Amino acid sequence: MTHSEAEHHETLIIGGGPAGLPLLVVLAGGVWPRYRRCPRLEAAAPDLARRLAALPGPLTELDLEQVARVVRPVDLFNLLHRPENGPSPPERMGMDFIQGARHDALLLTRGNVGGLWNDVPRRLLTLSPAHWMEFAFHPLTVWARENGRDLDPEALIIKQDLIDYYHSIPERFGVSDAVVTNCDVERIEPDPAGFRVTTSRDGRPRCFTSRRLVYAGGQRSRLRRLGIPGEDLPIVSQRYDSPESFLGDRVLVVGGGRSADWAATELFDAGRTVHYVMRQPAANHYRLVSDSLNLPYYARLAEIHRSGSPRWRVSFETHLRAVKSDGTLTLENLSGRWTESADRVLLEIGGDVDYSLFHGFPPFTLVEKRDRYRYQCHQLAVHPHNHESVDAPNLYAGGYLASGINNVVVAMHGATYVIAADILQRHRASEHR
Ligand SMILES: Cc1cc2nc3c(=O)[nH]c(=O)nc-3n(C[C@H](O)[C@H](O)[C@H](O)COP(=O)(O)OP(=O)(O)OC[C@H]3O[C@@H](n4cnc5c(N)ncnc54)[C@H](O)[C@@H]3O)c2cc1C
Repeated sequence: MTHSEAEHHETLIIGGGPAGLPLLVVLAGGVWPRYRRCPRLEAAAPDLARRLAALPGPLTELDLEQVARVVRPVDLFNLLHRPENGPSPPERMGMDFIQGARHDALLLTRGNVGGLWNDVPRRLLTLSPAHWMEFAFHPLTVWARENGRDLDPEALIIKQDLIDYYHSIPERFGVSDAVVTNCDVERIEPDPAGFRVTTSRDGRPRCFTSRRLVYAGGQRSRLRRLGIPGEDLPIVSQRYDSPESFLGDRVLVVGGGRSADWAATELFDAGRTVHYVMRQPAANHYRLVSDSLNLPYYARLAEIHRSGSPRWRVSFETHLRAVKSDGTLTLENLSGRWTESADRVLLEIGGDVDYSLFHGFPPFTLVEKRDRYRYQCHQLAVHPHNHESVDAPNLYAGGYLASGINNVVVAMHGATYVIAADILQRHRASEHR
């Protein structure tokens, strides 16, 4: 195949994280949800429950527009996954899964499947109970049993267990051949076939076309930069794994989000001298910490704040302005500029959704999404019944890149079945034309 030739698939999914990966299983693996009596739905929406019970086929055949008149389809699927709010054993879920036809879908992703969890710190715990992170078709308890792991679905889950779970999915559901890992999508444009996607893998360009495209690149597909002198010096790092692999006694941590909180806490506990610098005012940070005291590592951060340790200093509403190779740092806040020195600088300043990959489409309508503490990302405005962009037909927003979805994994799982149902129905309709 020459560079200009493109490999065609019905559906391309960009991003193999908790949003894109399960969609591949439902589409390419033919793992279809089917309604099973759900007392909670019967109590909340009896007409809808009756309609689902009368559906002869899988839930991917649901009339999503009709459902949307009663409840957002994503919420319906979330409820069927967790009718008891907590972890539901498969036999108590409001859906089970049957083997359906395999759809021609291909997943393109940087690194391995599992999304940003591949790159978070080695010992990071989730913020939420383990079961929030699971896919309905493969509950964590089932995975743990199959793999001889001891795992409490209500407890926080450590990164390594979570990533092992995600890594196991392609083989477990027979979709390994439909995954292209270590693949960087560089450009997405309209094509007579639908979409044209230009990628680079090991420096080699490769093109794909598809009729439909799901963009599930996550909320930090492009890491932010400070745009300051010295940002690319070797003493500055944008990646943190563990104190053992992060050398230097005096560390400046720049951030203010949960990743920076984790790194600053862990580095302090490993005996380092930490200066923690953030743009946000003190009140925002302390509110998040005090709201998160149920999490052991936030309880620890609160303790460190109170400790008065000479190894711990926090500067709010402060900006790093320059870094020199000898470790001289220039910082600035409302009182003025000053210099100090450090052995290493860690930038944990998050990322943005990368819409710059898209060329030649009408301008996308974007919606600013905030949580209780801060700006989170720009979501793509979508039709709530199918998560298709309101601006570009056949383009779907994966996970919480879709407008209206809350920024937690537990709120986005239902989107898998919504998008899959719409794609499968359109595909069937086009075949019968
Ligand atoms: C430190 C941290 C802790 C978190 N803890 C929790 C938690 O406890 N509970 C919770 O619910 N949520 C948590 N989150 C939120 C997190 O966003 C979700 O857990 C989840 O990973 C989102 O899934 P996703 O698939 O949308 O995005 P991601 O996990 O980011 O996956 C997207 C994938 O797409 C790939 N990609 C992006 N652009 C391209 C491109 N151009 N070409 C190819 N591939 C591309 C990325 O490399 C990545 O692999 C946390 C986030 C962070 C940063």
